[in-house]
Amino acid sequence: MLLFIVILYDRKVYKGHITIYSITIQSNTQMETIKCRFCESSNIIKWTKRKTLNRGFIQRYFCKDCKKYFVIDDGFFRMRNSPQKITQSVDLFYRGISTRGVQGHLAMLFPHNASNVSVYNWVLKYAKLIHKFTSKLKVMVGSEIEVDEIEYHRRKSSKAKLGTEKNFFIDGICPQTKFLISSEYSQSRGIKEIKVVIQRIKENSGNQIKIITTDGWNAYENTIKKVYGYNNKLLKFNVIHNKNIISEKDGNFNHQIERLHNSVRARTKVMRGFHGSIASANAIMKGYEIYYNFINKQQTIKCCPYELAIPNLKLNSNNKWLELIQYANQNKII
Ligand SMILES: [Zn+2]
Repeated sequence: MLLFIVILYDRKVYKGHITIYSITIQSNTQMETIKCRFCESSNIIKWTKRKTLNRGFIQRYFCKDCKKYFVIDDGFFRMRNSPQKITQSVDLFYRGISTRGVQGHLAMLFPHNASNVSVYNWVLKYAKLIHKFTSKLKVMVGSEIEVDEIEYHRRKSSKAKLGTEKNFFIDGICPQTKFLISSEYSQSRGIKEIKVVIQRIKENSGNQIKIITTDGWNAYENTIKKVYGYNNKLLKFNVIHNKNIISEKDGNFNHQIERLHNSVRARTKVMRGFHGSIASANAIMKGYEIYYNFINKQQTIKCCPYELAIPNLKLNSNNKWLELIQYANQNKII
């Protein structure tokens, strides 16, 4: 009887916020790596679990030093929708469904609807979050890289009358593994913009690259020389710049990259971000880079490019978006 009253009291007053007390020796040993969100102390204990509306029970912690309670940010902290719903939306978006299309799909499956603006914000948030992790991964690629740019006409605002602006998506891909090592959506294709892309290629592939193939655009030559430098002992540049000036009419320029560009073009033409700011368009394309490398199986290599270029990275679950978000959040170095 007393127990019953306690349960009723508990339900009425706390509405399920406080449920399970689970302070055990075993769970405390697992917490060595967990640190307080406020003071970074590891002198913490597991506290109660908090019940959330859309994300089930979330473990709370108590810091013995600063006497504060906190939860671990698993990448979905304070999000009002489940990780499944969010990652599903991001995936559909990169498979070519518009944000409104995704919203229509969600309305069919979930009791609480999400607006197309929420879908758009999830795409930006998680593309940026995952990219922070994937952009630092070291890659194993062939000795050649192809760098090219694709032209976009971005609407300056959602109001069509303000006109469009010419922008570029600059990217570097390894023809052997099909891995897209670096990409940037920028206002122009000058030395400054190309340098960002080439620099990341160098950072992530070290001295594996021996040949960089580009089209005849002037800005490439100096940028490549500047980033890769000159070898004083061998009296030559550290990479060969293979400037491909064969006209596109002949049909043998940059096959791989042309194919990539065609699929990028097909996928991105419906994306709303290209009606917004450059920063949003860039974030959306970072997400596309993730989709291209980690999510989408390439027919010619029969796997995802990351499986060849980053063999150490094992993504075991079916929901790779979710797994990448977890990796990005743990900041795990591979
Ligand atoms: Zn603390």
